[in-house]
Amino acid sequence: MAGLYIHVPFCAKRCLYCDFFSNTDAGYVKPYLSALVREMELRKGYIGGEALETVYFGGGTPSRLCAEDLGQIMEAVGQCFDLSQCKEITLEVNPDDMTEEYVQSLRALPFNRISMGVQSFDDDDLRFLNRRHNGQQAVEAVELCKANGFSNISIDLIYGLPEQQTAEKWAANLEQALRLDVPHISAYHLTYEEGTALHRLLDRGEVTPADEETSLALFSSLRETLTREGYLHYEISNFARPGFISRHNSAYWRGENYVGLGPSAHSYDGESREWNVSSLPLYLKGIAEGGATEERETLDVSSRYNEFIITRLRTMWGVGYADVLRLFGEEYLAFLQGQAAAFLRRGLLEERDGGICLSGEGYFVSDGVMRELLWVSN
Ligand code: SF4
Repeated sequence: MAGLYIHVPFCAKRCLYCDFFSNTDAGYVKPYLSALVREMELRKGYIGGEALETVYFGGGTPSRLCAEDLGQIMEAVGQCFDLSQCKEITLEVNPDDMTEEYVQSLRALPFNRISMGVQSFDDDDLRFLNRRHNGQQAVEAVELCKANGFSNISIDLIYGLPEQQTAEKWAANLEQALRLDVPHISAYHLTYEEGTALHRLLDRGEVTPADEETSLALFSSLRETLTREGYLHYEISNFARPGFISRHNSAYWRGENYVGLGPSAHSYDGESREWNVSSLPLYLKGIAEGGATEERETLDVSSRYNEFIITRLRTMWGVGYADVLRLFGEEYLAFLQGQAAAFLRRGLLEERDGGICLSGEGYFVSDGVMRELLWVSN
């Protein structure tokens, strides 16, 4: 089975740290909707007729679209793809879009999972991040979704903000998240991506990133707090109550096929990866002319091995030796075991179920561990 990702490239305003492609010009909505439906027809063959297991509306801010527009997209999805076995249809939303009327209108659509960009419940954090909502709005938005029958809700949080985010503030954020009793929490460390307003502040010396010790302490308290409360730490940044692991993202990490529609969306068919242009005018022009792919890369065996390591090692299921042998052969398995040996001795990796996975301590330094396990072609 395969996944479908739909990129909705609209935001009311840009957040300080964000490097996802989006546009604040709502005048593009109607042309985008027409082009998206056309793209579906053009690209429905990409996954070779496989049934969809998941559909994910990401962005941007999909909740900038009205329920009628979202319904129109889902109707086209149903006409172009096999939804008979689809188990999860996620809509990313922002708290300030979640009025009673809007949430009720979403209930009439096939969405069964809400992913809400909360980022923080602290108003100072939210102002710094240039978010549109405040902490109270985030709480009310989650409660509203629950009251209207959405039980599968995920919230995103950000930690590691410059200076202002103390351990106490982060703990208060986590306590508030726990009070809301949502079954899924994603927590990401703030990153300074080139081209963002945050990066420009960094360049001008107007922000000081959290130091490594603070970041590790915040991550440690995240992991300890949520696992103590019964959440599975199933991927570096993701925690779920049993039965609520994100099927869509897990399929990415298992290397399953997916097709991405909309500007900047990526697609993967097991052999190659391709992505659309990150521009609304170019996307509209491309679709009118037969396609909006900006680039396609065919993955050779070492690239596929490296992707396999990066995606699997992020998860609690880790990297199975038998899978590496089956997919890449003895040379790659011997390389992996040789490279992993030192990390196993240091307790950063653990051997489990015929493979390796990151230990609790290993999660703190996952980038460094992964780097050493990657195949570098000469
Ligand atoms: S973080 Fe979300 S709401 Fe903010 S600019 Fe990025 S996509 Fe838009």
